[in-house]
Amino acid sequence: MKTILITGGAGFLGSHLCDRFIKEGYRVIAMDNLITGSMQNIEHLMPLENFQFYHHDVSKYIHVPGKLDYILHFASPASPIDYLKIPIPTLKVGSLGTHNCLGLALAKGARMLIASTSEVYGDPLVHPQNEDYWGNVNPVGPRGVYDEAKRFQEAMTMAYHTYHNVETRIVRIFNTYGPRMRLNDGRALPAFIGQALRGEDITVFGDGSQTRSFCYVDDLIEGIYRLLMSDYAQPINIGNPDEISILDFAKEIIALTGTDQKIVFKDLPKDDPKQRKPDITRAKDILKWEPKYSRSEGLKITYDYFKALPEEHLYKYAYPKEF
Ligand code: UDP
Repeated sequence: MKTILITGGAGFLGSHLCDRFIKEGYRVIAMDNLITGSMQNIEHLMPLENFQFYHHDVSKYIHVPGKLDYILHFASPASPIDYLKIPIPTLKVGSLGTHNCLGLALAKGARMLIASTSEVYGDPLVHPQNEDYWGNVNPVGPRGVYDEAKRFQEAMTMAYHTYHNVETRIVRIFNTYGPRMRLNDGRALPAFIGQALRGEDITVFGDGSQTRSFCYVDDLIEGIYRLLMSDYAQPINIGNPDEISILDFAKEIIALTGTDQKIVFKDLPKDDPKQRKPDITRAKDILKWEPKYSRSEGLKITYDYFKALPEEHLYKYAYPKEF
C-alpha cells in the first residue's frame, strides 16, 4: 500500500484530495494546523484505518515515521482576506513549509507535488495566461505575501528537482470552488452565496468588469491526480477557461438562489487582477485533462451544499482562527 502525506489536509482542497487518495486505496496522512482548515472536512475519514491526522504546523520541522511515497503540499491560506489577516504565516508556509516538505521528500525518496497558483501571474499583462508567462506581481502590495511565497515555492521546488533529483510536480491552480469552501472566507463565490442565504445585498468590488474563470473542485482534483502520476516536472495550469466578469457572476448567483438581492458596489481592493483565464493547452496535451463540469452544474452542487449547512455556519468561521 502506498502512503501519501497531504499538508493542509483539513482544508478545502486538501480534504478533497484526502478523499480521492483514500478512494484510490492509499494510506493517507493529513497534516494541518487548523488555522483555516477544519476538522469537519475530514471527520468522515477519521474512523478509517488507512487515515491519520497530524495536528502540526508544516512551517516547523516535520517528522513522519516510516515510508512515504508521495507528498502533496497544500497547506496555505488562499483567500485574500486570510492572507491579509495572517501575512507572516502565509509567507512562512510557502517558504519554510515548502523547504521542510522538500527535505522530507528527499529523505524519504518521495515524489512531491506543490500547490502553486495563478497568483504567480499577478495582474497579468498576457491573456489568457500560459505557463511561459512570468507574471506581473507587486512584491510589496497586499497580495505580495501570497504571490511571492508561491513564486519562491516554485523556485525552491525546481532547485530540489535539479540539484537533488527529487521528483517534483507543480500545479498552478486557478480559481476553484465547491463544497467545503468556508462560507465567510471573503472570496467572491462564498461571499455571494452567503449574502444570498442571509438576505443581504451582494457586494461587487469595483465596477465588476474584472474577470475570473471558475473551476469546479472535482475537475481540479482529477487534474492534480493526473499530474502527480505523470513524469512532467514543469508547471501546469489547471483551471476552467470559461471566463466571466464578476458583475455577470453576481447576476448568475442571484438567478441561482432565486433571491431579489440588490447589487451594491464597493471599492476595488488594491492590486486586484483585472482579468484571469487559464490557457490549458499544456494540461490537455500532457495530462489529457480538461474540465468536465459547466459553471451551472458546479454552482448548483455548491449552492445545495451551502444551503444544507446548519444556520450557525452563516455567521461563524468569518476569519482564520487566532494564531
Ligand atoms: N469580489 C467581489 N465581492 C466580494 C468578494 C470578491 O466583487 O464580496 C471580487 C474580487 O475583488 C475579485 C473577484 O471577486 O475581483 C474574485 O475574488 P476572490 O477573492 O474570489 O479571488 P481572487 O481575487 O483571488 O481571484
